[in-house]
Amino acid sequence: MSQIRILPEILSNKIAAGEVVERPASVVKELLENSLDAESTKVVVEIEKGGRSLIRVSDNGIGMPPDDALLSIERYATSKIYKNEDLFSIQTLGFRGEALPSIASVSRFFLITRHREADTGLELLMAGGKIQKVTEIGAPVGTQVTVRQLFFNTPARRKFLKGIQTEMGHIADVVAAMALGRPGVQFKLVHNQKLLKNWVAVSNPEDRVIHVLGPELKKGLITVQHDDGYAQLEGWLSSPTVTRKTSRGMHIYINGRAARDRVIQHALFEGYAGRLVKGQFPMGVLFIRVPFDRVDVNVHPAKNEVRFSDQKRVHDTVRSAVAHALQQVDSQKWGRRFPQENMLFIKEKPKTYQKTGTWTASPQQEAKKTSAPLLKTASSPSDPPPIGILPNRPGPQTTAVKPADGNGFSKQEPDQTSLWDQTRFSDLKVIGQYQDIYIVCESNQDLILLDQHAAHERILYEKLKQSRKVTAASQGLLIPETIDLNYREAKILEKFLPELATLGFEIEPFGGDTFAIKSVPTVLGEREIKTLVVEMVEKWIEDGSGDAVEKAIDDSIKLMACHGSIRANQRLTDMEIKVMLEQLDACENPSNCPHGRPTWIKLDKAFFEKAFKRIV
Ligand code: ADP
Ligand code: MG
Repeated sequence: MSQIRILPEILSNKIAAGEVVERPASVVKELLENSLDAESTKVVVEIEKGGRSLIRVSDNGIGMPPDDALLSIERYATSKIYKNEDLFSIQTLGFRGEALPSIASVSRFFLITRHREADTGLELLMAGGKIQKVTEIGAPVGTQVTVRQLFFNTPARRKFLKGIQTEMGHIADVVAAMALGRPGVQFKLVHNQKLLKNWVAVSNPEDRVIHVLGPELKKGLITVQHDDGYAQLEGWLSSPTVTRKTSRGMHIYINGRAARDRVIQHALFEGYAGRLVKGQFPMGVLFIRVPFDRVDVNVHPAKNEVRFSDQKRVHDTVRSAVAHALQQVDSQKWGRRFPQENMLFIKEKPKTYQKTGTWTASPQQEAKKTSAPLLKTASSPSDPPPIGILPNRPGPQTTAVKPADGNGFSKQEPDQTSLWDQTRFSDLKVIGQYQDIYIVCESNQDLILLDQHAAHERILYEKLKQSRKVTAASQGLLIPETIDLNYREAKILEKFLPELATLGFEIEPFGGDTFAIKSVPTVLGEREIKTLVVEMVEKWIEDGSGDAVEKAIDDSIKLMACHGSIRANQRLTDMEIKVMLEQLDACENPSNCPHGRPTWIKLDKAFFEKAFKRIV
């Protein structure tokens, strides 16, 4: 029979470390939380080898008297809560009293601290959770924790650590999130003795938001202010034209604590309702304050989840405050002429096809564009609706052919490959363009509809793939465009620069996490180049593409094809249509766009005869 025993403390600390210390970034998070709880105004994070060999957090906070320092590394030792009620009204970032002992149990741990009222400091050395040495030393007021050889005594954990850049990416994310939450504190991040970030203390949180999330956010920044006595909101959010492909750029703080809260994220989206296209996410920072006793922060050991007592109330408050802030901006804008780039929905430039193989705006069309009314509400029925609010692409063929059930519409998917024996796209008789979205053609007995965007996407995709085998034609930008990325994004872009060069991109590091785009593939022209590069980077991060170079590049080519291709709502000349059909003939797989959607559908004669009851 086995006997029940109380675990030795070192072992129980190691077990706790399993939950609290997942990777170097979790150590950084816990140490930074302690520094902020200690009222620091300056914190420095030094890392070596992605946190594998060294993590050091130094602060100028209140420090600890010697007795407290000795206690701080004991399990359940905390200065932040004392009694039962305190747990239900937590105002600090930490409260569980397990971070320091957990970290110390899986590393070589050094603590130097001097309380602000003490004359000397204390140094404490530990290895694997055991105290090795305690000495009184001279030290500045504040605390410095050094963690060396993380997981040296838990090999299984150490094995799970990812590469230096990946771990460093997580650390940079943690520091950025902490810095966004505390604009009044200076944060420095150093990796392998190189200063990566230095966010100076600012009194206006907006400055910190722009510093951390990038200057592009400035354009049309939405400010949220709300206080109803229960919930207090303060936010700096991106305009609906500045978006990302993931929710990673959205930072939510609940009573000062960074939280990935789905309910609040959802509310924030609902506030943007109708302004974002599917798959677009705003960026920004939202601070929510509710009475401390109305939110439970003790949900998970890593403390990044919370539970509201009045979830629906908070949700609805966030949604309406965000919606209200956006409406304010609209009404300010609609009252006067405003630069087109600030429009909520930017119309695509009309394009003409040029010999060089790029689509560019023609002078007449440019002229037409600038004289066109800019007001969102002023579109006449014949005006093409702005891109992004129309269901501008057909779904799979079946939905395109079957809308009027019982009306004789065929429900069968056309057979994409064997439709035209011996017939080429360029042999089709072009009837015209429908809604500036579809090209309508006739082939013997059948009516063929092509989706112009999907078809052009396919053409560009194959061209780009082909061009990679030689060196893709590239065209220099008159004025290089710069993009600001975060640490993780910058690292992955840097890694793929040689691959991107084969596609015709000339992109160079421009100091820090900024890059200069100097040339772009000719097929792309100069359209949306920044957005495209950011989307590629986001896709690589999302898919963890670090190692799968070929897939990453294929994804990039798909994105390039999508960005470079003509859109729905674009009038094409007969010549342009002709060229497009010829190019489709040259494609290996002309029937599907790179994402798998059909480029064309067929309605046969029998379909019309049935619909008109010519035959029954
Ligand atoms: P918790 O933060 O949950 O209280 P920790 O194990 O993280 O638990 O820290 C234990 C205690 O050590 C804290 O309550 C605090 O009193 C003290 N402490 C830790 N880090 C610092 C620091 N950087 N400055 C001052 N005191 C600190
Ligand atoms: Mg703590």
